[in-house]
Amino acid sequence: MKKLYSNDNVAMVWHVKNMLEQQGIDVLVKNDKLYSIAGEVPITECMPEVWVRNALHYRYAEQLIAEMESSEQEMAPAWQCNSCGEQVEGSFGVCWNCQGNIDSEGETTL
Ligand SMILES: [Zn+2]
Repeated sequence: MKKLYSNDNVAMVWHVKNMLEQQGIDVLVKNDKLYSIAGEVPITECMPEVWVRNALHYRYAEQLIAEMESSEQEMAPAWQCNSCGEQVEGSFGVCWNCQGNIDSEGETTL
């Protein structure tokens, strides 16, 4: 068994577990029920973790998680306004500060 992933957000840990199981990877979640004693042990020792039972699946599982994380970022990539330098959330196409358009960034692909 090999530890693959950990996150203090137990919902993310279960999300990863379900996603990997759908891909046929046998995984195990640890520490997801330790919240009641979270104040008594160091947080790093009670973070929910996803373990891969078969080490041969590790690289593939790691790849799937990376893909999952990058696709989540693609949904809402923050961008910096070229006119005023403000950081704008990806869900906005226009700067909240100066109404500058996302396309006014010089490096926009054509
Ligand atoms: Zn702006």
